[in-house]
Amino acid sequence: STITNHMPTEELQALDAAHHMHPFTANGELAQKGARVITRADGVTLTDSEGNQILDAMAGLWCVNIGYGRDELADVAARQMRELPYYNTFFQTTHRPAIELAQKIAQLAPGDLNNVFFAGSGSEANDTNIRMVRHYWALKGKPSKSIIISRKNAYHGSSVGSGSLGGMSAMHEQGGLPIPDVHHINQPNWWAEGGDMSPEDFGIARAQELEQAILELGEDRVAAFIAEPVQGAGGVIVAPDSYWPEVQKICDKYEILLIADEVICGFGRTGEWFGSQKLDIRPDIMTIAKGLSSGYAPIGGSVVSDEVASVIAQSEFNHGYTYSGHPVAAAVALENLRILEEENILGHVRDVAAPYLKEKWESLVAHPLVGEAKIVGMMGSIALTPHKESRAAFAAETGTVGYICRERCFANNLVMRHVGDRMIISPPLILKPEEIDMLMDRALTSLDECY
Ligand code: PLP
Repeated sequence: STITNHMPTEELQALDAAHHMHPFTANGELAQKGARVITRADGVTLTDSEGNQILDAMAGLWCVNIGYGRDELADVAARQMRELPYYNTFFQTTHRPAIELAQKIAQLAPGDLNNVFFAGSGSEANDTNIRMVRHYWALKGKPSKSIIISRKNAYHGSSVGSGSLGGMSAMHEQGGLPIPDVHHINQPNWWAEGGDMSPEDFGIARAQELEQAILELGEDRVAAFIAEPVQGAGGVIVAPDSYWPEVQKICDKYEILLIADEVICGFGRTGEWFGSQKLDIRPDIMTIAKGLSSGYAPIGGSVVSDEVASVIAQSEFNHGYTYSGHPVAAAVALENLRILEEENILGHVRDVAAPYLKEKWESLVAHPLVGEAKIVGMMGSIALTPHKESRAAFAAETGTVGYICRERCFANNLVMRHVGDRMIISPPLILKPEEIDMLMDRALTSLDECY
């Protein structure tokens, strides 16, 4: 039978529970409760099957940077599907959307990151990176350089490779992760782990763990260090200012390739095209996805320096995906980048949205439940705490405060996400000041209801 948005919500929920396995979800629990059915979206607002209008302060999954409802992207997708819906880029063939998108990304990317290896998602792109950096060192005559250093609580995707790079213990407990030759160091999360140190001293200390790891593992064994400029799914953890300059120095000193995972930070989220530019990081490879197409089509990739690309070009790199450079996804991404550029959406972030949101967001520390409030561009977090001075966490049995807060937000027509007891936002970049006011009103109401 035909399923429509006009069916009663309970019926849609029952059908969903019968056949649909949701990612990162306790599906048994969800089946009892029923998934919220989203039917449409426009601008920064979702509509659900009950007719609620919900402010999406997560831009979907950190991806709908230009906002919902842009017909131009639908038109481009339909045109491209009619002209050339698919062709591969494996066997010495190419096509206009892949050429044009690679050229455009090279133009936007910093430094000599002029080369793009396309994938269908961020996870796939990070799998590419694992193989590419190891192959790079093998071609340079140093095949022993195979270890990739990553960080605890990082998120780099959910495939076996990218999930191994990630440092989420809950993921590593299931399904046989991680793969060999991945080493995790501590994250620069001062609020949770900084103890009595100043944030600046802590930032240096956590960066120096990279150097210690390189020395312990052996410089001749380490291929690369991968990190998100601002840790996203781990709870929008903003490193102290001292952290990144020290990390960059260490990567340069030991000739370790630096991979910046820009899947969230890229395409305007921090107010620059890439988080690396905002934080003065000089990566050899950037992972991209999400905001590349504003989530309108699945596409990701690795943006690679001239040096690395020229070495990889010496022989056949036995790697790729059916949808590498998919023409429809590439055309949609190009149209998204055109809109970001022509409508000066980064300028809106820098001059209007981010400064106003920062002022409002940081004022949340006045709330009795809120410890720190952090924000970079259009990604922010608050740490919920029972005791601000000691930066205490909620005890395990009340450790669901973040979950309760997220539920209150949903009831108040606001999508905020929680990671443990951190509440996080990553709204569409087009957010207007009056929508920021609405976001803050609903967030404060929800916090009050948790207190
Ligand atoms: N890298 C980072 C930093 C991410 O946040 C994500 C997804 O949230 C990924 C990689 C994985 O991307 P995807 O879900 O498109 O595979």
